[in-house]
Amino acid sequence: MISNDCKNVVTFILNLPCFGYKAVKRILKKASKSGAQIVIQPVSWRVNKRSDIKDISRDQLVLWLKDQGVQPYRCVQIMKWIYQRQADTFEVMTDLAKEIRKLLSQHFTISRLKTSQIETSQDGSRKYLFELEDGKYVESVLIPEKDHYTLCISSQVGCAQRCRFCLTAKGGLVRNLTAGEIVAQVRDVILDLKGSMRLTNIVLMGMGEPLANYDNVIKAVNTIADSDAGLGFSSRRITVSTAGLVSRLADLGRDSTVNLAISLNATDNATRSMLMPINRKYPIETLLDACARYPLLPRRRITIEYVLIKGVNDSEENAKRLTNLLRPIRAKINLIPFNPYEGCDGERPEDCVIAAFKEILTRSHYTTIVRYSKGQDISAACGQLSANLMNS
Ligand code: SAH
Repeated sequence: MISNDCKNVVTFILNLPCFGYKAVKRILKKASKSGAQIVIQPVSWRVNKRSDIKDISRDQLVLWLKDQGVQPYRCVQIMKWIYQRQADTFEVMTDLAKEIRKLLSQHFTISRLKTSQIETSQDGSRKYLFELEDGKYVESVLIPEKDHYTLCISSQVGCAQRCRFCLTAKGGLVRNLTAGEIVAQVRDVILDLKGSMRLTNIVLMGMGEPLANYDNVIKAVNTIADSDAGLGFSSRRITVSTAGLVSRLADLGRDSTVNLAISLNATDNATRSMLMPINRKYPIETLLDACARYPLLPRRRITIEYVLIKGVNDSEENAKRLTNLLRPIRAKINLIPFNPYEGCDGERPEDCVIAAFKEILTRSHYTTIVRYSKGQDISAACGQLSANLMNS
């Protein structure tokens, strides 16, 4: 809210949980141009509806508690109850004074997603269909590996990127997920696993483009990685995958230490623009230049994802070009043979073509893995998630 008082002082009242980083930046820029004096004053909520406590970051919760006269160290205690002890109400937080619990329940909820359906594949992977509060749906996929699980989560309902080979794209973007809804996918699946094989890896490779929902994704990822108060996943085991929103890459490198995966999928601009319209805005050179400048921690590499589509991007020529393009980047490569779905216009290459492509990359010393996506029989593989999108 911006109020202009008679002394020509513009007062900003930042309702912290409502404003994202981008919004604050925009408002401040506008105000500084006007030459007015700026007073920033974080205030508590003035909302009628209670907010989901998972929507706010640890820093925001500390500020809110301070504002309410509660010692900030209580924040860790509260978050531990939510993320590590899976509390569903503030009432159970018995090591907090009654008044604090009451205050929290007056302002917040601790929501869960409604599990609408769980499908299990022959290969053991499991697809969760979650219904959101507004009746929209998203999907998450739990993938069993040798001795742990990987969970693939969504960042948006639908997607605006219009990648030609991806089923999620067909329904367009419905809306961004809130930070709470992103974190909830992980928190709720952990509860469902009831201590069976450990969930250790999180990939944001489900529905949506994570960097197009930046503020919520970064908040969620930081809660997922928060080791003393949040879900405690190692940032080494969290991967954000992007179609190539170059304008956000530097932000991601600054705001987190999670792994970065880039869906490259082609080695020339004509093919990439045909497959991924975002390439018209950020062509291959611009994208790879941003990758080369990305602040990587020691021993980390950027994962380059490459969906192999028969006759489109799977030639040996393509493989050779890829090795050259990636030279300035500390990269490893994931080859994903195209996963078909009803009505798609692509095909998966023959196994010998995939093997020949891989061989060229390996010979150039790139660590290359062919990712045969699991869960094909339940439409849970890469690019097959639709979550009733067509009718939501
Ligand atoms: N928007 C993000 C994350 C979602 S897509 C991104 O583009 O990275 C996750 C991965 O699935 C991407 O690498 C994408 O290229 C791949 N993918 C999409 N459709 C596919 C399909 N039909 N077969 C195989 N991989 C697919």
